[in-house]
Amino acid sequence: MTKLICLDAGHGGKDSGAVGYGLREADVVLKLAELVNQHLGAYSCVTTMTRNKNTSAGYPSGREGLHKRIAYANAKNADFFLSLHCNAGKGSGFESYVAQPAPTRTKRIQKIINDNVLDFLKGYGVKAHGNPEKVDIQAARGRIAVVRDTKMSAVLLECLFIDNPTENKLLKDSQFLDGLAKAITAGVASSLGLEKR
Ligand SMILES: [Zn+2]
Repeated sequence: MTKLICLDAGHGGKDSGAVGYGLREADVVLKLAELVNQHLGAYSCVTTMTRNKNTSAGYPSGREGLHKRIAYANAKNADFFLSLHCNAGKGSGFESYVAQPAPTRTKRIQKIINDNVLDFLKGYGVKAHGNPEKVDIQAARGRIAVVRDTKMSAVLLECLFIDNPTENKLLKDSQFLDGLAKAITAGVASSLGLEKR
């Protein structure tokens, strides 16, 4: 069975997400999602995106937007949901979230994506923020609704800190972003057992 992967670029439209040094999270994660989508084209799978342009028409900001994304993925009956975000708040590094509790399959997918991304980030001196296998222990928080309320395995990635000057520079670097997208794609492909076309 061909697997359907739903890519969710966080925020969008009126909701810029976190901002830092002139960079908007909504724009970074949309670029990243488009690159992941492109790289997944090398594998036998089908992809869909909760948004593919920075508009608030389909996916307004705030809770309503989150519910629409969740309803979209559930209605599509996707096999896997991947939400892409950047962090903020004077920290550094990469982290991923799954719901709490999460099925073993989901945790396994999370670990494989995590390992792939951290391996790539090593080359840039970027490490895991906190515990690399951290699971979401604050599932009630709105921003994690996308991993809590989606019916399929779902993982949310916090890709570096947009307000950290060093990491902000990386997020502005299109070569870095493409490398990150490749690492995420390799993790998704490996964890879901996707075959090369
Ligand atoms: Zn975000």
